[in-house]
Amino acid sequence: MAYDYDLFVIGGGSGGVRASRVASQAGAKVGLAEEHRYGGTCVIRGCVPKKLMVYASQFSEHFEDAAGFGWTVGDRSFDWGAFMASKDAEIDRLEGIYAKNLKGAGVTLYDARAIVTGPNEVTLASDEVITAKTILVATGGWPFIPDFAGSELAISSNEIFELKEQPKRVLIVGGGYIACEFAGIFNGMGTHTTQFYRSEQILRGFDNEVRDHVADEMRNKGVDLQVNMDVTALEKTDTGIKVTNKGGGHFEVDQVIYATGRVPNTKGLGLEDVGVKLGSKGEVLVDQYSASSVPSIYAVGDVTDRVALTPVAIREGMAFVETVFKNNPTTPDHDLIATAVFTQPEIGTVGMGEEEARASEEIEVYAAAFRPMMHILAGKDEKMLMKLIVSKATRKVLGCHIVGHGAGEMIQLAGVAVKMGATKEDFDRTVAVHPTAAEELVTMSTPTR
Ligand code: FAD
Ligand code: NDP
Repeated sequence: MAYDYDLFVIGGGSGGVRASRVASQAGAKVGLAEEHRYGGTCVIRGCVPKKLMVYASQFSEHFEDAAGFGWTVGDRSFDWGAFMASKDAEIDRLEGIYAKNLKGAGVTLYDARAIVTGPNEVTLASDEVITAKTILVATGGWPFIPDFAGSELAISSNEIFELKEQPKRVLIVGGGYIACEFAGIFNGMGTHTTQFYRSEQILRGFDNEVRDHVADEMRNKGVDLQVNMDVTALEKTDTGIKVTNKGGGHFEVDQVIYATGRVPNTKGLGLEDVGVKLGSKGEVLVDQYSASSVPSIYAVGDVTDRVALTPVAIREGMAFVETVFKNNPTTPDHDLIATAVFTQPEIGTVGMGEEEARASEEIEVYAAAFRPMMHILAGKDEKMLMKLIVSKATRKVLGCHIVGHGAGEMIQLAGVAVKMGATKEDFDRTVAVHPTAAEELVTMSTPTR
């Protein structure tokens, strides 16, 4: 049977854009449907605008630090509207580049919602039916907000990027990447920021020392971080939103932001009707080549609920193209993924945390918490944390964890070494770069534990 396309991709985000572009360049006839904006979560309402907000929010500290270096900084104030206009212009520019690159690669774009109506068939919102030899589902994820009294008053990260006014008071609920990053952003921009996390400590899954360090520094910077705390009700008032917490206490804020996880975007997509098996969260269940239970349908990125990061969605998309269009079966490698959390202070991490490593083998821990040079003249007590987890048996560095300025930049390179299987001795024989904070990574000589 002749199909309209060799490949039809649903979703123009990180995974879908890369897969369609590379498949088209490999000679496939490719169509792609995007219901919102090209670039997806990362470009439109995720990584990129978030990072711009992180930069904007850090100036308040830079201005304060400047005094210790002899600068007099005059009156300062933050103009939310001006920042948002610059941010929007940059996002528009990037979206234009994404669409242009897709078209340039020969991909046919459909600005429409698409659903799967057969193993080789998708239907657009306009009722147009399109057939394809292979369908790639790359529809990403969507914020999850639990149901409770007044939950409709809460917004998610999606809406933050559209807010017309800077809230003077916010409550952020959650203790994951998004909640912690936005707590730092709003706090830095001068918003009174309260964060509730339901359990003992934020950033579950990360190294415990890193979690404690970040939580302490976030509090030192002014975030009112409350753990073992939750919301029981929200109520609209004339002046804002009244929050009732689980202890029965009340306070008022201008916005309540829920960052309580994201769910795979498969609702109403028609997948189950054509036999695609979904998991308990609605994720598309895929094998190591990203193939679903229907042989002609594949899925990559957040919709598969593997590792929800942009570079991972891109890698999965490229591995899919290698497998299906280049006759080179390739599995995306999910091992030792370096990641940064753009909290303030920032986290860079790769590999196992201390607790996870200790549970699997005998380890040595090298850790140093110190005031970096920059903070001394600035008059700040804020410390950096550097930590290496080393296997006693193989001497391999099993985990590297950094908290502080530039942690995201540093971990990209430390990640290369760890991925290559570097040992502690490899780190040690690398001459330090001086004076940097990063040199601590190659000069920690005695195990802490
Ligand atoms: P998405 O990028 O979500 O793209 C899916 C696309 O599909 C969307 O454009 C959507 O409109 C479209 N779509 C959905 N359904 C349909 C349909 N039926 N028809 C047509 N189109 C459809 N990751 C990092 O690595 N670093 C970060 O700093 C980072 N920060 C983040 C900050 C926030 C606030 C959020 C929410 C996420 C962040 N992420 C970050 C995660 C990252 O954005 C995602 O992992 C990544 O975007 C996943 O790519 P994807 O292709 O799977 O899906
Ligand atoms: P996460 O899964 O990271 O965090 C969700 C948080 O919400 C957890 O603290 C969780 O608590 C809490 N939570 C879940 N359900 C409830 C509930 N019903 N009531 C109260 N709290 C609840 O999700 P995010 O939304 O922060 O981010 C989604 C993903 O996007 C991340 O995991 C990451 O992969 C990606 N991302 C990456 C970024 C980066 O690379 N810098 C930045 C932003 C997002 P508990 O721990 O107890 O389960």
